[in-house]
Amino acid sequence: AKDNGRDNYQYFTPSMNASMLERLQLEQHLRSAVLHQEFCLHYQPIVSMETGQITSVEALIRWNDPEYGWVSPEKFIPIAENNGLIEPIGEWVLEQALKDLSHWHAKGIKLDMAINVSSRQCINVSGVRFDTLLADAIKRHGIAAERLHIEITESMLLDDSPHCLEVLNSIRQLGVTIHMDDFGTGFSSLSYLRKFPISVIKIDKSFVDNALVNEADASLVRAIVMMGKSLDLQLVAEGIETRAQWILLKSMGCDFGQGYLLSRPLPAKSLTPILAQGETF
Ligand code: C2E
Ligand code: CA
Ligand code: CA
Ligand code: CA
Repeated sequence: AKDNGRDNYQYFTPSMNASMLERLQLEQHLRSAVLHQEFCLHYQPIVSMETGQITSVEALIRWNDPEYGWVSPEKFIPIAENNGLIEPIGEWVLEQALKDLSHWHAKGIKLDMAINVSSRQCINVSGVRFDTLLADAIKRHGIAAERLHIEITESMLLDDSPHCLEVLNSIRQLGVTIHMDDFGTGFSSLSYLRKFPISVIKIDKSFVDNALVNEADASLVRAIVMMGKSLDLQLVAEGIETRAQWILLKSMGCDFGQGYLLSRPLPAKSLTPILAQGETF
């Protein structure tokens, strides 16, 4: 792969800047990572604010490149979304996550699993629709569809194609619930919450942070929670780092919390004893 890389460089013009080169190199490493399955998943608990119990975990991808070390998904997921690698990566995530979930279920641990899905996966080019992939994976791993949650961002809903709505409706029909990630950060229109089969809103960390800092943002979060409730949606507060944030969001009526205060994302192996103990927060 290294030799190929050098061959390719002759096509670069001097005007290409360093960041572009860096990106192309990263892309090449990413291709090799897909080939050699250099990814792993970490899982972050989502805790019921009412009972303090872990009700689900969110699968978060991790990539350890032999040369770069750990590369943040914030960096490589957008690249993968652009060059199409998100499709094989997304399929790998789905497979691994369901494998780990079925192992936890086999141990008698009652748990739901949330998986992040990019819009590019929903409307994929390889010809297989994501709802078909999902239905097949759930069946193969013997998982009840109700235990699985798909996290999507507002950008997916911006895509006007009726195809996307069709895929999401079909996913919901399977029994899998759809969660709106990073709520409030995109160009969200409230009408999306009715048009698309959304069951849960995840309030973005920036709101969780700011709600404690100023009253205007606190009012905004309170309004989001009230609106969510009136639409019969559940609410998750993301990125809770302090006890004060937990108390505030709970008092506002949030149903679930997630963040470093409760737990960082952990490898399945490290999480198993915590889940098995039924630890409460
Ligand atoms: P996200 O879906 O919004 O995930 C939450 C991010 O916030 C995660 O970063 C998580 O580690 C981090 N986080 C959780 N609690 C706290 C906290 O209390 N404080 C702070 N500062 N951060 C917290 P991570 O794992 O680096 O993932 C970044 C983003 O990459 C994700 O944001 C998601 O958009 C994307 N991503 C991760 N895994 C996947 C995947 O399997 N597929 C796709 N399509 N995207 C993924
Ligand atoms: Ca997420
Ligand atoms: Ca999020
Ligand atoms: Ca995010």
